[in-house]
Amino acid sequence: MGVMQTLTASGTAELSAPVREEEISVPAGIDAAMVDAIDRVRAPLRHWPTAISELYHKEVVRRLYREQHFLFLLGLLICLGSIVVDIMINPQMAGLGTVLRVLAVAPLVMFGMIAGARGWTSLVAFFVGASPIAFIAVLLHLSAQMPPDLAPRYVTATFLVVGLANIILPYSLRGLILFDCAALLVTTAMFGVRGLDVLAYNFDFLLIFALVAAATLPLAWRFEKLRQGNFLLTLRARIAGRELLKANRALHTLSETDPLTGIANRRSFERRFDSAILAPGSDGRRTDRIALMMIDLDHFKAFNDSHGHQAGDYCLTLVAETLDTLFKDAGGIVARYGGEEFIGAVRSSDPEIAANLAEEVRRTIASVLTPVEDTGRPMVTASIGVGVAPASAQLPREELIEMADAALYAAKEQGRNQVDIVEAEPAFADASMAR
Ligand code: GH3
Ligand code: MG
Ligand code: MG
Repeated sequence: MGVMQTLTASGTAELSAPVREEEISVPAGIDAAMVDAIDRVRAPLRHWPTAISELYHKEVVRRLYREQHFLFLLGLLICLGSIVVDIMINPQMAGLGTVLRVLAVAPLVMFGMIAGARGWTSLVAFFVGASPIAFIAVLLHLSAQMPPDLAPRYVTATFLVVGLANIILPYSLRGLILFDCAALLVTTAMFGVRGLDVLAYNFDFLLIFALVAAATLPLAWRFEKLRQGNFLLTLRARIAGRELLKANRALHTLSETDPLTGIANRRSFERRFDSAILAPGSDGRRTDRIALMMIDLDHFKAFNDSHGHQAGDYCLTLVAETLDTLFKDAGGIVARYGGEEFIGAVRSSDPEIAANLAEEVRRTIASVLTPVEDTGRPMVTASIGVGVAPASAQLPREELIEMADAALYAAKEQGRNQVDIVEAEPAFADASMAR
C-alpha cells in the first residue's frame, strides 16, 4: 500500500542518512491519530481539525494559486491565438475581436500573472476566474455582431471554455460552483441586454451551458479529493518520519547512556575518544598531550557488603555526576566503564593537566559521601591510573588503556586512594617530534 511504501521509504532514508528535523517538519498539535481519523471516516475538508486544514491551505491551496503562471500563460495564448480564428471565420470582425481581447481579456490575464508573482492569493483567485468569464463575454459579444450562420460557432466555443475551466481551474468544488454561476449570469446578461426575445431564443443554449458546467463538476470534485488524499498521505508519511527521527534520537541517546548513573557509557566514550580527543580537527594543537584515566573505586565490594547494594548504587551515581562535572570543566570526556570503574580522557597543551585533574578527581571522590560518624577515613575512595602520551604520537585508545591499567594496578598496590601516572615511552615522544 502507498502509505506503507512511503513510511518504509522515509524510515530507511532516516536511518541511513542524517535527516534534519526541518526537512520533515509538521506543525505542533498534529499527530498521526488525527490524520488517521480523517482517513477512516473520509471526513470532508470542513470537518478536518483546524491545524490540518490550515496546513492544507498553506501548503497546497496557496501554492496552487502561486503556481498559476502556466494557466495564465495558456489563457494569454488562447486569447491571442483566437484572433487568428476570428480572421479565418469572419475577417471583418478581426479588428473588433482583437480590440476586445487585448483590452478586456489580456489585462485580466496580465494582472493575474502579476498577482501570482507577488503571491497575492486572493487576487490570483479572482483573476483566474475572471479571465475565462471575460473571454466568454467577448465571444458572445462577437457572436452578436456576426451574420446568423456564423454566430453559433462563437456561442458553442463558450461551452469549451466553461468545460475546460471547470477541469483546470484551481478552485475547490464550492469555488467552481460559484465560478459557473457567475459565468452563467454573465452569459444570461449578455443575451438579456439584447432583449428578452434574444434571451428566450437562446434559452436552449443557456441550458446546454449549464449542463456542460454541471457535467464537468464531478471531475473537478474528484481532482479536489485526490489533492486532499495526496496531502493527507504525505502528511502521514511526514509524521511517521518525525516519529522515527525522535525514536532514533532516543535510541541513540539510550545506546550511549549508562542506565544506572545517567552519564555516558563505554560505547559513547570510545566513539567520542576517537573524534573529540584523538582527532579533534582544528581544535587540536601539535603540542597537546592526551591523558587517559581509569578510575576504580576502592574496596567497593566491602562497601556494598556493609551498606547494601542500593547504597552502592547511590554512591556510584554520586561519583558519576561528580566525574561528569570535573571532566566537562576540564574540556574532557568521562564514562562508566563497567561496575565500579570509570574511564576519562582529556587533551590539553598544559603538561600538568593530567596530574592535576587526576588529583582533583581523587580528592573529590573521597569527599563525595560524608560519614555519619567521623571515623577519620572517607567512606569511599578511588585509585586512579593515568596513561599520558603526546597527541602527535596518535597512540590508539587500547594502548593508552593498557598504560592506565598498569598505572591503576600500581596505585592499588601502593595502598589505594592514590594516583599513578604512566608516561608514553620517550621513543613515542621523539617519533612525534620528528614528524
Ligand atoms: P578494589 O579496591 O581492588 O577495586 O576492590 P573492589 O571490591 O572495588 O573490587 P572488586 O572487583 O572485588 O569488586 C567490585 C565490586 O563492585 C563488586 C560489585 O558488587 C560492585 N559493583 C559493580 N557494579 C555495581 C553496581 O552497579 N552497583 C553496585 N551497588 N555495586 C556494584
Ligand atoms: Mg574496585
Ligand atoms: Mg574494578
